[in-house]
Amino acid sequence: MEDRFVGRTAIVTGAGSGIGRAVAHRLVREGAAVIVADVSADRVADAVAEIGGVGQGRATGVTGDVSTQADVDRIVAAAGNRIDVLASVAGIMDGFLPPHELDDETWTRVLGVNLTGPMRLTRAVLPHMMSAHKGSIVNVASEAGLRGSASGAAYTASKHGLIGLTRSTAVFYAASGVRCNAVCPGPVITNIDGTPRSEFAMQVIAKHLQALPPPATPDDLAAAICWLASDDSRNVNGATLTSDGGWSAA
Ligand code: NAD
Repeated sequence: MEDRFVGRTAIVTGAGSGIGRAVAHRLVREGAAVIVADVSADRVADAVAEIGGVGQGRATGVTGDVSTQADVDRIVAAAGNRIDVLASVAGIMDGFLPPHELDDETWTRVLGVNLTGPMRLTRAVLPHMMSAHKGSIVNVASEAGLRGSASGAAYTASKHGLIGLTRSTAVFYAASGVRCNAVCPGPVITNIDGTPRSEFAMQVIAKHLQALPPPATPDDLAAAICWLASDDSRNVNGATLTSDGGWSAA
């Protein structure tokens, strides 16, 4: 294990479970002060207890909903003035609902968490990163950000949008020393609720899901996300990095 984040501060959303928890854990092991943010207070408490402090690294929990501006403000304020890394990992699925079965509630919630949340967080950390002329933002998208057959319409639209937000941020702030990249996981063993709510959708996209690679672990994804968060990737900006066992190459 390296010490790439000693003396640095990071915000990780969705850090109560799965990929986000693995990212927070790795950042702390590599020396960062990490804001462990999640909408579930129980998961925040459990994650902070598990991660604890390692060397100079430490975890601080904040319960909040990334789709809500007031909660984003609290999450960012907890980091203080120095923010080196933002990892927007929090995300939810959509029951694989196709457009003709999509309800407004699902659309609004999925777009709110998966796209509006990362936008609000990006907007809030940018002044800190720009004044330091340094910062790395990593957004966790999905295979569904690259194709139309990996989820329902809302999730697919949200992850395509997140890749657009990533590229826009990369372009606008490259000269300000701020980088922004996206990671697209394939299947990963986590607690995400991927229960289908549409027989129609499953019939249509079943053939695309047959070629799924074996699921990865959250630590596999944390390695890629922490690389993009670190100076090791200093020449990488606006990239969409797949970590999917080669699924998108097929
Ligand atoms: P997970 O459910 O294990 O963890 C996600 C965490 O985000 C949970 O702890 C949840 O409480 C939190 N969260 C949900 N809504 C939130 C909100 N509004 N505000 C703050 N926190 C919130 O799932 P995961 O698989 O680790 O998902 C992490 C990311 O990876 C998501 O963006 C997901 O879309 C993406 N992803 C996952 C997979 C997979 O196979 N697991 C594949 C592709 C992409």
